[in-house]
Amino acid sequence: MTPAGLADGLRRIAELTARADACRAEYIAEAERTDAARHEGYGSTTAWLMALSGDPAAVCRSQIAVAAALEGMPETREAFAAGALPESRVRVLAQAQALCPEQFAKDEAALVSQAATVASTRLPQVLEAWKRTTDPQAAEAEAERRHALRALHVSPVWAGMVHLNGDLDPEGGLMVLAAIRSLSEAAALDANDTRTPAQRQADALVEICHRHLDGSLGGSAHRPQVTVTVPWDTLANGAGLVDIETGAISAEAARRLACDATISRVVLDADSTPIGVSRDRRVVSRALRKALDLRDQHCTHPGCDMPARYCDAHHIIHWADGGKTEIANLRLLCRAHHRDAHNHQPYPRRQ
Ligand SMILES: [Zn+2]
Ligand SMILES: [Zn+2]
Repeated sequence: MTPAGLADGLRRIAELTARADACRAEYIAEAERTDAARHEGYGSTTAWLMALSGDPAAVCRSQIAVAAALEGMPETREAFAAGALPESRVRVLAQAQALCPEQFAKDEAALVSQAATVASTRLPQVLEAWKRTTDPQAAEAEAERRHALRALHVSPVWAGMVHLNGDLDPEGGLMVLAAIRSLSEAAALDANDTRTPAQRQADALVEICHRHLDGSLGGSAHRPQVTVTVPWDTLANGAGLVDIETGAISAEAARRLACDATISRVVLDADSTPIGVSRDRRVVSRALRKALDLRDQHCTHPGCDMPARYCDAHHIIHWADGGKTEIANLRLLCRAHHRDAHNHQPYPRRQ
């Protein structure tokens, strides 16, 4: 099948799906009117639909809500039944209708024709504009409600990963999207970048936090610090795992973090006695770092031009292996190439 043929097929399927969904809404409305669920021995239409379709309660409830709303939305119902509006857009229209039914009835034809043609990403804006002119106070209240719903959960999970989920209000979301895109979309232009879009976005978020903690974004002198406690043996022989607040990292990763201790470190000896504690003191002093930035200018990996301020100072011979913290033993590497350097470098065994 040609791409054009596939596109045509997919369009037709979308239309058929909308028609089928519209038909289901009519059936559900009829079932509600005639109390069909109780006649069939169920406590509610939701319970009956769950038994019939196997869908979860939330899906069934949303279908019932759409069916009920359509009763007062004749133009929407017609477009839905003709396959011109998918159920997702009908649901958004139903929310607008609930906000101000009288004005919606007057504007319904225009809103439906816009909802059927405008890009899905633009639809919320179209309806937002309508709400603001129709009932500014209600629109304001809704914006407040959305703002109150903002939440972010960041939690280490059993699988050894850190799970993020949550919701941001449009303003906050815009900020986060713009920041993540500024780092992930530029990377997408690099043909040698083999990361998936999702991996690039994850890296972008981590990089933003990295820059914040490094103070490379400007800001307070008392910047927050991340403390990683590494037993000396683990650091020295590069084997094993290091427990951190959010899970476990490899000894190699711990060596990389300690390599340029913009992240403060506490190193423990075999008896768990701290032998080297650095807080605000960096392994690489500010003066030395300045000299290194001047010499290297950017990441020293061939072909990489990540600016110095987003690079780590990498010890060519790790200080844990006796390497000196002096300019001859240092080179600038961006986060990705610093990672490569530590992962692919044959580990220098100590005698
Ligand atoms: Zn390093
Ligand atoms: Zn690089």
